[in-house]
Order: sequence, then structure tokens, then C-alpha cells
Amino acid sequence: MEKKSCDCFIGYLSGEEVNKSNISYQVESIEKIQPTFKAYGILKGEPLNKKQIVDNRRGYLRRFAFCPHCGEKLNWKSILENI
Ligand SMILES: [Zn+2]
Repeated sequence: MEKKSCDCFIGYLSGEEVNKSNISYQVESIEKIQPTFKAYGILKGEPLNKKQIVDNRRGYLRRFAFCPHCGEKLNWKSILENI
């Protein structure tokens, strides 16, 4: 059987779908936009850094345990190390 490589769908970040290949880009976008939101009074509290954005307790990131496309168990430790 042919094994296709999968850009695993790993969860939601701030309501948007994230894949292995774009999570770091999306975390960066949030990090960049937050000071603007803060300036316009949309953001309550202080702008977050990348590590805070992916912190479970902040509620921005909803993580899947397995990729719904290929069924691979997601290695969050290694995913988050690359952010
Ligand atoms: Zn996958």
C-alpha cells in the first residue's frame, strides 16, 4: 500500500484550523496582531508571546491527539519545540 505523507491537521488555533506546516506561521500572526488589538482596546490583558499563545491554559489552542486524516498520533512536544 502506498503511504502518502500527510500534513497533519493538528487542531484549532483561535478558531482556525492548523496543520503541522502552518502552526508556527499562525502563532506568529497572532503574536504580531495582538499589540494592534491592544491599541484598539479589543484585547483584554497584555499581548502574549508565542509560548503563551500555545499554552493550553490560555485557551487559544485546541489540540487533537491524533490527526483525523491519517490517524497518526501527534507528537505535541516536537510540534511545540519548533514554534
Ligand atoms: Zn495526518
